[in-house]
Amino acid sequence: MDSFIKKQQFNFIKKCLFDLNGAFRNCIDANIVDTTKACIQNKIYDYFTDLTEEQRTILDISKITDPLHIDGYIKDLDQYVYGMPTITASQINKVFKKEKKLKIPNLNDEDSKIVYLGWIDEAIRKLLIIYNLDGKFVGMACRLPSTNSNNTNICTLCNHVGPESEIAFVSPICKTSNPGLDSYKSIGFHVCLDSKTCNDRITSTEKLENLLIEVNNIKKK
Ligand SMILES: [Zn+2]
Repeated sequence: MDSFIKKQQFNFIKKCLFDLNGAFRNCIDANIVDTTKACIQNKIYDYFTDLTEEQRTILDISKITDPLHIDGYIKDLDQYVYGMPTITASQINKVFKKEKKLKIPNLNDEDSKIVYLGWIDEAIRKLLIIYNLDGKFVGMACRLPSTNSNNTNICTLCNHVGPESEIAFVSPICKTSNPGLDSYKSIGFHVCLDSKTCNDRITSTEKLENLLIEVNNIKKK
């Protein structure tokens, strides 16, 4: 069977099963465990549209009757997961036309299932993000902060909470509809500096898409 689970959906399922694991371990009452399981099952199915019977069977968690089954179930699911399409160096340069001498990340990474491609170019002090929005690669070049504080931040993309050294406030360079005019738009958001771990946590792309639409001044259909 073809891959039918998006990386962010996979992350969502993993998060759900983490909750299920908690229910198994903390609830003595079997009825509560069953109710929790049914609720989690619905949440998983609801995150998909137009599932075939076969796909529903793959996503069926009723066979998980012990916390020890969870790891195996997740490993099994991995074969049906897909990430963003592969991107070439020239496509990256096209997304970031304005950035000269851009450092290109390692594109032959073993774990190619990612929601978005993100990397830091220290030379220009920017976090670069590329995402496949409706079949087209779009990106944002985000300036990194120059100062460090002791704040605890929440990543806008994956909701992870962490110190400033892990999650920083970045400001993407926005495209404006009037390049001749100085219509500078100021947007900022907190985001994980390690895109790889962020990619393993992100369960929804809504905020990422909204940011990219705003930064790139994309007209909504
Ligand atoms: Zn994150």
